[in-house]
Amino acid sequence: SNGLMAGKRGLIMGVANDHSIAWGIAKALAAQGAELAFTHQGESLGKRVRPLAEKLGSSLVLPCDVEDLASVDAVFASLQAHWTHLDFLVHAIAYSDRNELKGRYADTTRENFTKTMLISAFSFTEVAKRAAVLMPKGGSMLTLTFGGATRVMPNYNVMGVAKAALEASVRYLAADYGPQQIRVNAISAGPVRTLAGAGIADARFMFNFEKKNAPLRRTVTIEDIGGSALYLLSDLASGTTGEVHFVDAGYNIISMPHPQDAQE
Ligand code: NAD
Repeated sequence: SNGLMAGKRGLIMGVANDHSIAWGIAKALAAQGAELAFTHQGESLGKRVRPLAEKLGSSLVLPCDVEDLASVDAVFASLQAHWTHLDFLVHAIAYSDRNELKGRYADTTRENFTKTMLISAFSFTEVAKRAAVLMPKGGSMLTLTFGGATRVMPNYNVMGVAKAALEASVRYLAADYGPQQIRVNAISAGPVRTLAGAGIADARFMFNFEKKNAPLRRTVTIEDIGGSALYLLSDLASGTTGEVHFVDAGYNIISMPHPQDAQE
């Protein structure tokens, strides 16, 4: 095939359905000739992910729950057997107890803090380490973060703290793997209506607020995110690593609404 990603093979982790950010990214990559493998969390999602993968010409669909390190190891053993090497990795995985994605951050429990950190932050480090072994000639890795990592977003709470850790890991991993010509970046996406997004209390308010106040006066689509992911994962971004790249219709640059647009 031809295209920007012709001859490149990559793993997509985090498709749950056709609203998933990972799905928007997968579509953009496949349209440019990438060969894709997918992981899904549990068999109920497997039933949804397999037909989606098939649409993009992929039959390499593997179960993986990042809480279970044996299932992570099995994915990379399988990739090594089928492909021998890997050119890129997309990590679009996060979890927190939705009872703690409302109210105060101060009330976060030890149990959910630990679980949120493991699944939403440290899993990228564990997956990156295994992917890097399959990238002897270099590669590109991407994870997904949110503006709540650096500024307080109502209800985002412990997930904001985990995203801060994730963004810091992007920088440390970029430094660790740079000499191997592996680039590591994150996309900080604006709010998107997904399963994970729906777990945050008052998601609709946040969505509408950003629509009204972002410079582009809209929220972003998974196709917007796919386009930027394609750039970061392709050779077009060959000089970029350790970066947190906003795909948020410009919302992060705004400090307050323009008085002419304010309701009161
Ligand atoms: P989604 O629900 O479609 O995807 C989340 C994925 O995480 C699912 O596929 C789920 O199976 C997976 N996952 C959760 N726990 C897992 C585990 N233990 N092992 C393996 N997989 C697990 O939602 P999404 O919004 O597409 O989320 C993808 C990424 O984008 C997440 O990191 C999320 O924090 C981030 N993000 C989302 C938004 C948004 O508004 N939706 C904004 C910025 C960043």
